[in-house]
Amino acid sequence: MSFTTLGLSAPVLRAVKEEGYTTPTPIQKQAIPVVLEGRDLLAGAQTGTGKTAGFTLPLLELLRDHKPAKGKKRVRALILTPTRELAAQVGESVATYGKYLPFTSTIIFGGVGINPQKNILKKGVDIVIATPGRLLDLVGQKALDLSHVEVLILDEADRMLDMGFIHDIKKILALLPQKRQNLLFSATFSDDIKRLSDSLLNSPALIEVARRNTASEQVEQLVYPVDKARKRELITHLIKTNSWKQVLIFTRTKHGANKLSEQLNKRNITSAAIHGNKSQGARTKALADFKAGNIRVLVATDIAARGLDIDQLPFVVNFELPNVPEDYVHRIGRTGRAGNEGKAVSLVCVDEKELLRNIEKLIKRKIPQSIVEGYKPDPNIQPEPPKKQKRRPQRGRRSRKVEGR
Ligand code: AMP
Repeated sequence: MSFTTLGLSAPVLRAVKEEGYTTPTPIQKQAIPVVLEGRDLLAGAQTGTGKTAGFTLPLLELLRDHKPAKGKKRVRALILTPTRELAAQVGESVATYGKYLPFTSTIIFGGVGINPQKNILKKGVDIVIATPGRLLDLVGQKALDLSHVEVLILDEADRMLDMGFIHDIKKILALLPQKRQNLLFSATFSDDIKRLSDSLLNSPALIEVARRNTASEQVEQLVYPVDKARKRELITHLIKTNSWKQVLIFTRTKHGANKLSEQLNKRNITSAAIHGNKSQGARTKALADFKAGNIRVLVATDIAARGLDIDQLPFVVNFELPNVPEDYVHRIGRTGRAGNEGKAVSLVCVDEKELLRNIEKLIKRKIPQSIVEGYKPDPNIQPEPPKKQKRRPQRGRRSRKVEGR
């Protein structure tokens, strides 16, 4: 099956072809015709499945089909994302797939000056890709009118709820016209997502593509048992002896990310850390340097890495296992994307055995283990009683401020 059979027009097909896509992914095959029919959609698909093109391609087509009223350009499509990075990536996709169409789009998120965003909006745009907080700020300052939105897309809706955006989403819904098309994309279908979709969607088509658990089968996974105190030494050893070039390393804390990045740099492994305390400029630069191969290692926390789309990322390393097993699946989903091979390596110390068990339960398989020569864990080290973990803020302003504004 090729893209030409999906009902897309020449300008869109041309852009798709230039991206080198020959065959639509399963989510694209199923979502594109449904969206073109004008139906609401509830789609279960995570990053890596090609979901962005799954909604962007038919969106462009719809906007092309329905000619807007003459006069000032009005916002006709709104795409909401949980993080700045995802907004930036979706924005890039919209620009790429729409490059042979006359539409304008803009990305809106916090952490950067609001005035340039206001100036762009003043000129009028067709498509807005935004995180909720800044979007509402702009509406509050009368810089943005959402009353002509024809299509609303919630991308990674589960993450938006996890990050406490439900109230903002409700406020935004109240600003939209009653009659519109709604698309909701989510990696998981929790009760909260079901409630949101029940209130938002009108007789939606339901599409679910391979869960990330099965998608992650493309990723070769390996656990290296090691003592906690030797993890830094081991990761340096692995990167150097295997000549790993582009490695995304996850740590549990922002402080841990900074510390590891500094240590790698001291050992001549170029690296940068990204997390919610870094300015948007620093994050964008780190990501660009990493993508361009100027730095070898990117050390990230879970939330900062959410939505990162790095083509052909070969290695993901869990320097520490995440507390939430689903985060492991999100993390390793950064590699092995769109059919590429990837490898995910986890450094696991005696304290993390329970976390590993929970992850294996979730992905329904045992991850092979291998001991690196010279790094055999000391059998005399006993697990430390788990420290009281600070919970990740679920609905607090903190997480929203850090990641969404
Ligand atoms: P997404 O799930 O939207 O984050 O997309 C994951 C990756 O797959 C992105 O790097 C896209 O450029 C790529 N991609 C999307 N659709 C296709 C396709 N039909 N063929 C090959 N690659 C694709």
